[in-house]
Amino acid sequence: MFVNTVLDFLLVALAVFVLVRQVSRLRRKQEAATVPATRDCPFCYSTVSARATRCAFCTAELKPAGV
Ligand SMILES: [Zn+2]
Repeated sequence: MFVNTVLDFLLVALAVFVLVRQVSRLRRKQEAATVPATRDCPFCYSTVSARATRCAFCTAELKPAGV
């Protein structure tokens, strides 16, 4: 009886855990699709990270993406 209750609880917990993980993975994919990970430096046109505040190639200061 007690074992059944524990087993049921574990099954539900596992199902919720998997569901939450799938949803968060989907959300992360959507964010990655809408926000590009890289962009071009306006000074030297090299590809730099979208979150970079300074170009790695010409060291020019860049505005953070989305501002
Ligand atoms: Zn640059």
